Amino acid sequence: MLRKILVANRGEIALRIIRACRELGIKTVAIYSEADKDSLHTKLADEAICVGPGTASKSYLNMHNILESACLTGCDSIHPGFGFLSENAKFAKMCEESNIKFIGPSYKIIELMGNKSNSKQLMKKAGVPVIPGSDGTIKNLKEAINLANKIGYPILLKASAGGGGKGIRKVDNLEELESAYNLVKQEAKVSFNDDEIYMEKYIVNPRHVEIQILADEHGNVVHLGERDCSLQRKNQKILEESPSTILNSELREKMGKAAIKAVKASNYTNAGTIEFLVDKDKNFYFMEMNTRIQVEHPVTEMITGIDIVKEQIKIASGEPLGFTQKDISFRGHSIECRINAENPELNFRPCPGQIKELNLPGGNGVRVDTAIYTGYTIPPVYDSMIAKIIVHAENRNAAIAKMKRALEECVIEGVDTNIDFLYTILKNEDFKKGDFDTSFINKEFGM
Ligand code: ADP
Ligand code: ADP
Ligand code: MG
Repeated sequence: MLRKILVANRGEIALRIIRACRELGIKTVAIYSEADKDSLHTKLADEAICVGPGTASKSYLNMHNILESACLTGCDSIHPGFGFLSENAKFAKMCEESNIKFIGPSYKIIELMGNKSNSKQLMKKAGVPVIPGSDGTIKNLKEAINLANKIGYPILLKASAGGGGKGIRKVDNLEELESAYNLVKQEAKVSFNDDEIYMEKYIVNPRHVEIQILADEHGNVVHLGERDCSLQRKNQKILEESPSTILNSELREKMGKAAIKAVKASNYTNAGTIEFLVDKDKNFYFMEMNTRIQVEHPVTEMITGIDIVKEQIKIASGEPLGFTQKDISFRGHSIECRINAENPELNFRPCPGQIKELNLPGGNGVRVDTAIYTGYTIPPVYDSMIAKIIVHAENRNAAIAKMKRALEECVIEGVDTNIDFLYTILKNEDFKKGDFDTSFINKEFGM
């Protein structure tokens, strides 16, 4: 088993990893930026090292400082969490070369699957249904024009290196194509330092349904069912649930098998997620693979009873999975709400600042993953997600009622949050009926 893990992240996911390590008897080293010196993850870890100033590029993305910290503190491994360096093949390679285990797939697989247009090519070859679109990247505007005519508008232009909902633009007609093409290329260059883009048919009113998988280093692969992440704003998830109201056990098995096929085709190891879009006729299409732990992983933990972060660590330690597909069963219903420090009235403008008063929900079936506390100051330089509330109940209606109850209990004073906005979603009749798709938030809230 790994002995000492450097946690290369911050916030709630850093705590999530540190807690798993504690329970496994593994020592932890937290890293932090100057903006995070009072953060909880620095206090809960066994050791903490400052790796640079607040700007992420100089701290949480500073590969050299992070690796050096791991070596100096005698760590045998690094857990990257999500965001930051989690899908950075170069960093995973540097870890391998320094004899530090990167808790995730090998850098070669990150290279292969982290590039969204490459991974689609690979999946197509393996016989997994993919969203119709370009074969690989688009080289120039002329190619884009020809292909869009062939596919038919609307289409999407997407950054190959994209993530976090960024670098995606819908194009409705030829007139819009040229400016959109230049914009996405520019955005991709600025956000991801990589201006490769690809094209996809725009699937109208789909559901986002993803499959969680676990693959050990001995060829064993299982899936842990789906998460429905159709409730999104600007292509970013805000509420996730499992099971999905549109899957029956037959479709679940079909999508699970496709996900396992995808994993085997790429020789993938560790935890990962295959994201699919499902259209009105229940056709499903591979969209991308996330080669890391995901924000919404707790929803799956609640209904399967499997600790995905501990599994990641055990897999990275070389242990075989302790269960097979038939040992995995799903119990009840789980929902997650992402609590962001932002103001929905002001176009969801981030609202950093000091938390003056805090009461987090609790009780039967309620889990809160957060790193905030009374008096804590949310720095302006990072993501605005400050907490995740996850509930588990016997069925969907009970889970919705429990989440409403949890949001009612939740008091966060000093900063604006999206709690009331989330509450409005839970009260919505169409949401309650399970009648929604990825355009729901836009439509219902006129965005
Ligand atoms: P999930 O698929 O787990 O829901 P998200 O897409 O919401 O993940 O991303 C998780 C976190 O990582 C968010 O904070 C997001 O801003 C960040 N993130 C994801 N991909 C990238 C990327 N390529 N570059 C920078 N940040 C990213
Ligand atoms: P990211 O890497 O930022 O997570 P994804 O490729 O996973 O980007 O897409 C994010 C979201 O954008 C999806 O969950 C979906 O709502 C929307 N989307 C992406 N591709 C398509 C498509 N071809 N048709 C319709 N919606 C799409
Ligand atoms: Mg995605």
